[in-house]
Amino acid sequence: MNTLLYLIALILVFWAQYKVNGAYARYRNVATRRGYRGFEVAKMILNKHGLYDVQVEMSTGGQLSDHYDPKTNTVRLSKDIYYNDSIASVSVAAHEVGHAIQHATNYSMIALRDKILPIAMISSQMGWTVLFIGLLFTMDFLFYLGVVMLCVIALFQLITLPVELDASKRALAILSEEGIILSEERHDCQAMLSAAAFTYIASLIATVLQILRLLMVRRRRD
Ligand SMILES: [Zn+2]
Repeated sequence: MNTLLYLIALILVFWAQYKVNGAYARYRNVATRRGYRGFEVAKMILNKHGLYDVQVEMSTGGQLSDHYDPKTNTVRLSKDIYYNDSIASVSVAAHEVGHAIQHATNYSMIALRDKILPIAMISSQMGWTVLFIGLLFTMDFLFYLGVVMLCVIALFQLITLPVELDASKRALAILSEEGIILSEERHDCQAMLSAAAFTYIASLIATVLQILRLLMVRRRRD
């Protein structure tokens, strides 16, 4: 049973990754009619919202390393997203700017997520190690401390969901309102953003399944 849970978690995460890579491979080759590039879209939306202090840079990471960095107040776009005018480019650029808008408007969920972030980071660095040491040397205290850390990771992933969905919702609305995409392109942008959102849902389910699996392994020992 616990092997099955592990396999489901693994398949779910791979499938989500496969879906987002597939959507990206498809929509990076579909040019938008209006032809705005990713960085232009980001700057247009930021200016429209009066966020002149947010920087737009090219990310040094690889494909789909796009993110908003609240510490430096910078939107970083991967090279393809930055320069291209594809459905993928305008969607991802608008989504990342959506996060900048969330920060600027103190969106409640992002404030909560930022509060949990430090402890979630410690948990993701140490959780598994603590847990396995506890399991290996049958030190229950360490085992359950590890489980609590995984629960913190799950909580963080749970709070991340509305944040991500909200950023995508904002992105779609703005792209249409600003005439960056035409109404017939909206469906494709939505498909790209939904595929990306699914990876967050998959990671959350995978973490919960892992917690269940570990508790089952532990119970079998008694
Ligand atoms: Zn996001």
